[in-house]
Amino acid sequence: MLRRTKRSVKREEQIPREGDLYRRIECGGCTFELYYGYYEECDRKNPLVRPIPIYPDFVSQPQYDNEGRPFATEMQDACEYYVGYSFDEGCYTCKHYRHSVDYIGICSCEERRLE
Ligand code: SF4
Repeated sequence: MLRRTKRSVKREEQIPREGDLYRRIECGGCTFELYYGYYEECDRKNPLVRPIPIYPDFVSQPQYDNEGRPFATEMQDACEYYVGYSFDEGCYTCKHYRHSVDYIGICSCEERRLE
């Protein structure tokens, strides 16, 4: 019984909490620190929903690599320059998307590159 309790305590310690650092990513001359959290307020209030890594929102807050190319995430909604077979799938299926690290990539579209 005691052994099972220790195991469950250890498991509890491994469950990430909101605000814990998930990962530090360096790519394209930028550093991104990703923390656990919630995308929706209703998730935070739901005791069955655990915190998940929160990725930057490059649509509302664009960031660019050291060559002026915009960062994108795999789950980001496709933009007007999308080239691919399924617009609804987002950047992940776009011809311009270049995977970098984790779910973060770089958009190689010349139209979206900074001068
Ligand atoms: S990868 Fe670039 S061009 Fe393609 S949909 Fe995403 S932001 Fe638009």
